[in-house]
Amino acid sequence: MRYNKIRKMDISNGPGVRVSIFLQGCAFHCEGCFNPETWDFEAGEEFTEETVDEVMELCGKSHIKGLSILGGEPMHPSNIKATEMLAKRFKKMYPDKNLWGWSGYTFEDYLSKQDVIKYFDVIVDGQFDIKLRNPKLEWKGSENQRVIDVQKSLKNGKVEILE
Ligand code: SF4
Repeated sequence: MRYNKIRKMDISNGPGVRVSIFLQGCAFHCEGCFNPETWDFEAGEEFTEETVDEVMELCGKSHIKGLSILGGEPMHPSNIKATEMLAKRFKKMYPDKNLWGWSGYTFEDYLSKQDVIKYFDVIVDGQFDIKLRNPKLEWKGSENQRVIDVQKSLKNGKVEILE
């Protein structure tokens, strides 16, 4: 498991000032991807327990509203354990802060079958589609992607869009 970078103060990926971690490796290779340097599963830095410790320490600062896990593809089988290590520890340590994630997989086909999503407040799902690109959208790059309220969706058994 590897990661590309950690942002200590990110105001672009989710509400408020956040910590973000970009995991390394994505097999989707969407045309126009905002982050192609994260595609190679062998690049970046090794992801270890110390990486989780570092992220948790950063998340503990009072001005940090939450953690965002991006990629690359955080839910790829090669990365999902790293995502779970982060998500599980984050929710245990900071139950009042929110956890956001981005994934090229869709909720119905794949994400809803992954145990790790129970830790998330919000997941933006779906691959970036350059034909549906819209720079005015908040938290997502193309019209097909959805900003999903994960807890509400799990409770109701269907995709619920964040209001
Ligand atoms: S899923 Fe995301 S990281 Fe992967 S290629 Fe598409 S836009 Fe890039």
